Amino acid sequence: MLKHSESLITAYIGVGSNLSNPIKQVTLAIKALKTLTDSQVTAVSSIYGSKPMGPQDQPDYVNAVVELQTSLTPLALLDALQTLENKAGRVRKENRWGARILDLDMLLFGEQVINNERLTIPHYGIKSREFVLLPLHEIALNLCLPDGDSIAELANNISQNGLQKFSAEIL
Ligand code: ATP
Ligand code: MG
Ligand code: MG
Repeated sequence: MLKHSESLITAYIGVGSNLSNPIKQVTLAIKALKTLTDSQVTAVSSIYGSKPMGPQDQPDYVNAVVELQTSLTPLALLDALQTLENKAGRVRKENRWGARILDLDMLLFGEQVINNERLTIPHYGIKSREFVLLPLHEIALNLCLPDGDSIAELANNISQNGLQKFSAEIL
């Protein structure tokens, strides 16, 4: 719910899961994002299936990207996303890119560039991940990164790496 209309920022959240019925996890996460304080969801991509990054001995992933307008600060939004990950039952493990019940990554926060110990914005993987670029392009056709790169151009030039858009019937 949005309380104030002043100083709204458009942020993009990458949603991912590969455990405990990932399609359900992603769907529930999108629902939860719609209840986020001081924020309003304004677009949701299709749901996609993707191959894991890093360790291959884990299930395929389900991904989506959500656009929201928010008056939260970047760190308050990160806190809210991590609270949702924890509520979904995410357990943080040593191994990077291992299986997880829910991952909520802040891809963009307006045109801001942020580099501190908790937050790197734009997300460092945004240009190299097909499961981020294609859903992002789907809901933000003319979006550019703070460095001027066009999402359309990045999305058109990345290898699909087996990414598939799920049709509404199977969801
Ligand atoms: P990757 O970051 O490669 O997608 P991951 O999503 O599995 O891997 P996490 O375990 O979810 O990594 O997050 C590790 C840390 O990354 C978090 O504690 C958070 O502080 C930090 N972080 C830095 N930038 C961001 C961002 N843009 N969105 C979410 N977390 C971020
Ligand atoms: Mg991630
Ligand atoms: Mg993450």
